[in-house]
Amino acid sequence: MEIGNKMALISLSFKSPNLLFLHFIRKMRPLLVTCVLLAAASLCAYAQERVTDGDVTVVFPPRLRSQADAALALYRQAAQQVRMKTDLPDPGPVRIELADTDLAFQAAYRRLGGRGTPEHALAVAFSPQNVVLVRSSHLAGIGPGSLPETLVHETFHLYLATMLRRVNRRVPLWFNEGVAQWVAGQKVSPQIRNMLQTDAKGGRLPSLASLSERFPDERLALSIAYARSLSFVEWLEGRSPGTVRGILSAMAQGERFKVALLDTTGENVSALEAAHVAKLAGERSFLRTFLSQLTLFSVLALIALAAFARYLVKRKRLHRTLEYEDTLDGYED
Ligand SMILES: [Zn+2]
Repeated sequence: MEIGNKMALISLSFKSPNLLFLHFIRKMRPLLVTCVLLAAASLCAYAQERVTDGDVTVVFPPRLRSQADAALALYRQAAQQVRMKTDLPDPGPVRIELADTDLAFQAAYRRLGGRGTPEHALAVAFSPQNVVLVRSSHLAGIGPGSLPETLVHETFHLYLATMLRRVNRRVPLWFNEGVAQWVAGQKVSPQIRNMLQTDAKGGRLPSLASLSERFPDERLALSIAYARSLSFVEWLEGRSPGTVRGILSAMAQGERFKVALLDTTGENVSALEAAHVAKLAGERSFLRTFLSQLTLFSVLALIALAAFARYLVKRKRLHRTLEYEDTLDGYED
């Protein structure tokens, strides 16, 4: 029967190619439907929505609607925080782009003119386009405070770039990143701080000059570079509050960075750097080292050790009591 049908079809095909085509479509229908569905799904994945409030627009894939609404509301606060700490001028209309996958982040990064592969970046600021590109897929795993902090950090980069462009000046990368973290209230983790202190004591801390143009690619070295920058800026502000604002204000008047730093602090970068390294090296004490090395497992191990010691003492006490009672029994006998 089947052979008969095939023969009939072959003979028909010579007469009518349309019938053969219809038969082919009918046979391939499930596969075609799957292809159409897959294409529609991928188109949906790249579909972008946008929300706007005044001069701020957030562009996002549909499933990031709640994060987009949050980003829109948070940007105003972020910009206010930057202005309060730095007095920098407004950069104008800003677009925040949210990327829900690494692939989408990389595609947007290249479209916006980014160079290299920002493997560890949570977000990147593009100036003069005034775009903040956020890798939302990574933010989700960090915690609820990460979006506000990230927005302040990147907003500062836009504000600073706007001012520098107006006066045609540049700042070292360590200053740009150090101040961005300081404005955002970001902190160096105890482990990385411990490494900074050890490296400062051992003379292995990367110099500020080596962090002027670019940061290392390797993850730990990159963390040290960010921490080194933040630690120095925090120290400058702790030593004399208003230092950052003073440097930026002098630069907004057209001063070069080195001169602005010297005028504001009364010392050059090398002298300040040496004093900061000496301070870091001095912080390294036994107690700090011990506390920074404490982990959940080491605390549990200490508790277990204490419990075992207590058990030994109790057992010894019990033995003594039993020996005493044995002696009493002996007397009774
Ligand atoms: Zn940054």
